[in-house]
Amino acid sequence: MSQSLASVAYIGATILFILSLGGLSNPESSRRGNLYGIIGMTIAVLATVLGPRVTAAGIPWLVGAMVAGGGIGLYAARTVQMTQMPELVALMHSLVGLAAMLVGFATYIDPAASAEYSGAAKAIHEMEIYVGILIGAVTFSGSIIAFGKLSGKIGGKPLLLPGRHWMNLAGLLTVIYFGREFLHAETMNDGVKPLIVMTVIALLFGIHMVMAIGGADMPVVVSMLNSYSGWAAAATGFMLSNDLLIVVGALVGSSGAILSYIMCNAMNRNFISVIAGGFGTSGGTPAAAAGAQPAGEVIPVNATETADLLRDAKSVIIVPGYGMAVAQAQHTVFEITRYLREKGVNVRFGIHPVAGRMPGHMNVLLAEAKVPYDIVMEMDEINEDFPKTDVAMVIGANDIVNPAAQDDPASPIAGMPVLEVWKAKTSIVMKRSMASGYAGVDNPLFYKENNRMLFGDAKKMLDEVLAALKA
Ligand code: NDP
Repeated sequence: MSQSLASVAYIGATILFILSLGGLSNPESSRRGNLYGIIGMTIAVLATVLGPRVTAAGIPWLVGAMVAGGGIGLYAARTVQMTQMPELVALMHSLVGLAAMLVGFATYIDPAASAEYSGAAKAIHEMEIYVGILIGAVTFSGSIIAFGKLSGKIGGKPLLLPGRHWMNLAGLLTVIYFGREFLHAETMNDGVKPLIVMTVIALLFGIHMVMAIGGADMPVVVSMLNSYSGWAAAATGFMLSNDLLIVVGALVGSSGAILSYIMCNAMNRNFISVIAGGFGTSGGTPAAAAGAQPAGEVIPVNATETADLLRDAKSVIIVPGYGMAVAQAQHTVFEITRYLREKGVNVRFGIHPVAGRMPGHMNVLLAEAKVPYDIVMEMDEINEDFPKTDVAMVIGANDIVNPAAQDDPASPIAGMPVLEVWKAKTSIVMKRSMASGYAGVDNPLFYKENNRMLFGDAKKMLDEVLAALKA
């Protein structure tokens, strides 16, 4: 394939990626968006493999790598549970970072690649390598830690080392110093040393940055690492002089940055403060001692009583959370919704922007269960309707319906907007125990007078509720 044909294919792929992102912004067009992405990626891979920069000798290597990578990807996609999706995404971000690091080192030590540049162009190329490896290393180690935190292998407690901001600053200055050494290196051997020192510092910084972030702020980190992986891909594009990688990386990087901003707004957090770390509390511990501890009795109900409450209601708002994903209860939720709607009950869903463990988690599950999009509302659209609602049914959600976010300034989630389910005539919380949610904060909602607790696995309990409704 000639260079010009490859360029045309790249432009076509770029347009498809932009259409894909546009499609993914709305549940109704998201399937089409996904399809555009798949076609764009197929064109991109074919144009690269058959393009002018790949020699015949390289083809078997490429095919071998694609079969191995594609096989692992296919296996992972087929076996991963929906609840493990966020971890998988974090792991994939780490691979983008690792690739950027490896491409950076390979480009630097490849004599043919280095010989292409001289003078100012050489300095710019080396700067690309240095920055590319830096972003790649931070993305790689940060994403590995995020994977550990999301999968529960590492606790949600923020690691707050004494003088951590000074440590970060010292790391930054060292990286700048060694960047200068790298650019002034006479030989490749001289250059590799500062490159390795910087890589080690960047890896440590990635670990430190994500370790310092508390449970409640993980959504921002997830979307921020998504953005970093885009910049890492763009950096790889610069190193390999591949325009498509630069454009796609920039698309992912900027959309991830916009998402991080939206997540910060949704949680009422300052972006810089989240990155600097130290918010949130340890997983499983109650709210800060200074904060008011919820007290009193909780009122448990059974499935039949829940069915009665739902049957008598004129309007119901369902608030799904992470527990619905764990229990895979979305299909039964849909069955109950359909039944109640047939009986004339106004049933709607209230979706918190950080419900579950990844952006859009609940929307994906509800779309999978074929819940109509027009009854799935965002938090801001539905929050003021709770006082006019008979029953708010909370399914495996906890932090996103915690009134302490509004009432208790000492709470680690203070200031985070929440779904005000307690303002409904009756709220029913469905979960297995009194355990706290991801942020590790106790929830005063459970003790409110108009709240009922339906203890048990969400899928099992909802099956019972459905049976009771139909009885
Ligand atoms: P939470 O983690 O606050 O609460 C989920 C609740 O579900 C738990 O309290 C648990 O209680 C219950 N649960 C678990 N399994 C089941 C089951 N099988 N059946 C019934 N209930 C179950 O989830 P939310 O969705 O309310 O809030 C999301 C949290 O995750 C926020 O703190 C957010 O910051 C964080 N987060 C969000 C990300 C995102 O991008 N959306 C990314 C990373 C973190 P019990 O054990 O008693 O059953």
